[in-house]
Amino acid sequence: SLSDRLQDTFDKLRGKGRLTEDDINVAMREIRMALLEADVNFRVVKNFVARCKEKCLESDVLDSLTPAQNVVRIVLDELTVLLGSTDSKLTLAQNRTPNVIMLVGLQGSGKTTAAAKLAYLLKSQGHSPLLAACDTHRPAAADQLATLGSEIGVSVYRGDGRDAVAVATGSIREAVDHMNDIVIVDTAGRLQIDEEMMEEAVAIKRAVRPDQILMVVDAMTGQDIVNVVTEFANRVDFDGVIMSKLDGDARGGGALSVREVTGKPIKFVSMGEKPDSLEVFHPDRMAKRILGMGDVVGIIEQAQKVADEQQMEDAERMLREGFTMDDLLKQMQQIRKMGGLQKIMGMIPGMERAMSQMPAGMDDSQMTRIEAIIHSMTKEERARPKIINGQRRKRIAVGSGRSVQEVNQLIKQWDEMNKMMGKMRGMAQQMGGKGGKK
Ligand code: GDP
Ligand code: MG
Repeated sequence: SLSDRLQDTFDKLRGKGRLTEDDINVAMREIRMALLEADVNFRVVKNFVARCKEKCLESDVLDSLTPAQNVVRIVLDELTVLLGSTDSKLTLAQNRTPNVIMLVGLQGSGKTTAAAKLAYLLKSQGHSPLLAACDTHRPAAADQLATLGSEIGVSVYRGDGRDAVAVATGSIREAVDHMNDIVIVDTAGRLQIDEEMMEEAVAIKRAVRPDQILMVVDAMTGQDIVNVVTEFANRVDFDGVIMSKLDGDARGGGALSVREVTGKPIKFVSMGEKPDSLEVFHPDRMAKRILGMGDVVGIIEQAQKVADEQQMEDAERMLREGFTMDDLLKQMQQIRKMGGLQKIMGMIPGMERAMSQMPAGMDDSQMTRIEAIIHSMTKEERARPKIINGQRRKRIAVGSGRSVQEVNQLIKQWDEMNKMMGKMRGMAQQMGGKGGKK
């Protein structure tokens, strides 16, 4: 990660006493690389690095004992400011019913998904949203919105499904009739910006006068993001950005470009395909993500998200009846759901470094091997691993393409985990509770 790289750079310089401007230049080069790798626009990077350098030189960074940390702190603070520390809220007009929120963006950026997520969020806040299917160009678009709407229990207005502007105006009447206080207008996009798309967006805007226009931007968009948002800003204009697909590998450097180039705030980030994965934007977290630093807060929240009710029930059952191979499999799949061990490690500051010195730790490929072994067990064997005798072990080894030793090792690990469970069970019983009950 960047902080490691900087640490290394400065470690080399230790013993030289005071750092020089040249040393800072070396650090700035690292930062420039990290930002470019995160797909921040090169012009944005250039200006940003120049500003950071100035700050680094004017403060007492050069004389400090921990120059790397100081440089990183300055860069993080600057990034956070740049990403916008204020106005990440959805501002709705008090005296207008319905309020209208319009979504724009390229095709595939995540507009329709974001429309449903926004509806879900607003509904959970006590609003009564209506979704308007104004992407009339692709036949399946309205169906997609209708499906999402029915999943979250929000009505979808489709009108005649032909004229996008007519659907938009019709949706307002529909909202008035049905007492919906917010209309969310989903619009069409193209793979590239084109005249027709822009004109249609402008026409819808003129017809329904949205209180908020949000541009949905795919976090994976590379350098081209600057042109795309600039064009939308000039043609339809928008009030804020929803950054989608941040659950993927994207570092989110585009967020920085968007903010720097248009001055528009990022209001939400979309972290998956489920309706509840729309989150309020946190500039400080995004700054860390862009620089590739640990996001401890993020890990904890992700962990909490996967700890759903099913898991509570599982935990109770495991305490009661013991731990099966299926449980082990499920645990590993939970880790994968959080993005894999590698990713989790990468989110903890300094962890990558520690892991590289400790090759014995369990990595993703080891998890894959264990999964293969468990998959080669029968249902009965998974539920009651005690019955796995020598012959069965041989069969499982052959079936999974692993060695008998590996199978033995897994069963031994399971046995130890189960003993631990047993002890916990005993403790829980002594305390008089059933253990783990909500
Ligand atoms: P639209 O063309 O702008 O309406 O884009 P869609 O909402 O149809 O999304 C395009 C694709 O991206 C779909 O397959 C979505 O499921 C997916 N998608 C949208 N938002 C996210 C997100 O935040 N994370 C992930 N992983 N996928 C997303
Ligand atoms: Mg769509």
